[in-house]
Amino acid sequence: MGTPRKPTAYILHKESSEKKQIKPTEMAATAGQVIVCKAAVAWEAGKPLVLEDVEVAPPQKMEVRIKILYTSLCHTDVYFWEAKGQNPVFPRILGHEAGGIVESVGEGVTDLAPGDHVLPVFTGECKECAHCKSEESNMCDLLRINTDRGVMLHDAKSRFSISGNPIYHFLGTSTFSEYTVIHVGCVAKINPLAPLDKVCIMSCGFCTGFGATVNVAKPKRGSSVAIFGLGAVGLAAAEGARVSGASRIIGVDINPSRFEQAKKFGVTEFVNPKDHKKPVQEVIAEITDGGVDRSVECTGNVDAMISAFECVHDGWGVAVLVGVPHKEAVFKTHPVNFLNERTLKGTFFGNFKPLSDLPGVVEKYMNKELELEKFITHEVPFSEINKAFDYMLKGESLRCIIRME
Ligand code: NAD
Ligand code: ZN
Repeated sequence: MGTPRKPTAYILHKESSEKKQIKPTEMAATAGQVIVCKAAVAWEAGKPLVLEDVEVAPPQKMEVRIKILYTSLCHTDVYFWEAKGQNPVFPRILGHEAGGIVESVGEGVTDLAPGDHVLPVFTGECKECAHCKSEESNMCDLLRINTDRGVMLHDAKSRFSISGNPIYHFLGTSTFSEYTVIHVGCVAKINPLAPLDKVCIMSCGFCTGFGATVNVAKPKRGSSVAIFGLGAVGLAAAEGARVSGASRIIGVDINPSRFEQAKKFGVTEFVNPKDHKKPVQEVIAEITDGGVDRSVECTGNVDAMISAFECVHDGWGVAVLVGVPHKEAVFKTHPVNFLNERTLKGTFFGNFKPLSDLPGVVEKYMNKELELEKFITHEVPFSEINKAFDYMLKGESLRCIIRME
């Protein structure tokens, strides 16, 4: 991992504004203080992030402050940074896929303590609402994903500021910062022996794709599964199909360079919609004698979503949407496709309950039942975070790990 850089975080004493460098042994000394640290701020849509000294306020009621050690880039960050198909909220600290250590906890927090190893999650679990009590849902009433909120729930304020001016949060996580403040219900405590530079990708991409297949599509042994979009989320969905015993895993992508890579993930056949004159759903129906048993869409493109639905077999086919659509996208299909007994579903975070389920998924990696290494194609220091955006925009990376120290 190279030689560690000197810590760049400071405590900002409220009375004196004196800046003091933190050594690891002094970690607890920062509790209750404003910490000044580096964060990558998105000032404007589509403009490179700028590493700034940001003030991070102490955690309030039911919040924890986390020292982020590794974060990675998911396509959802890129959509909200581009703000082409999403509402612009700036200046903002993006990032939601990460691993870190609890630095301090706010009032009422009993489930986490300083020093705990944790994964932040963009959707949460209050453990009290009807969704949290239901075995079927992970759509917590209080903490479900909210892409437009830029402040904390407790007081509708941001914990980040520069010279007293607020910088907005993203997905309640804002992990492109050396320190961040998150609601305790969006923080999963994991095995401290788990390598955070690997399991950080479980905090979004891996669990989303893997869960979309194993928890939602639920392919039977020997079945056929089409995966639309062979980025990290789609390949994690393919991994779910492989462990479920699917016999045919058909990868669909418009970027042909994805195909070679996808072989490592058990994808058995490839279809590039650009190679065919007819719609890709018809191509898939032809090669599968009427359609696939299951499909999982991981592109964010509404036409791919429609194809993913229309390519499943009538009578029993199930399609699962995962990609985050453009805010004005409309899904259009003929109702007869439903009458013919096809099912359409969608999921956030692969239907995993973030706090209850994520520690167990991490254990599966620790027991060597799951592979994460093959998803990690790039790694950059925090100072080069913009490179991670370039790799994703060029379709070169699956996951690029951003090292904070
Ligand atoms: P990625 O950019 O790494 O991968 C997306 C892949 O889709 C690329 O290989 C791209 O070439 C392909 N693609 C794009 N348009 C296509 C089309 N029309 N037909 C076929 N392939 C197409 O992105 P990722 O990080 O793997 O994320 C995938 C999607 O999942 C994104 O939309 C992201 O926002 C979404 N996501 C959803 C959740 C959730 O909980 N539902 C969580 C994380 C990510
Ligand atoms: Zn994500």
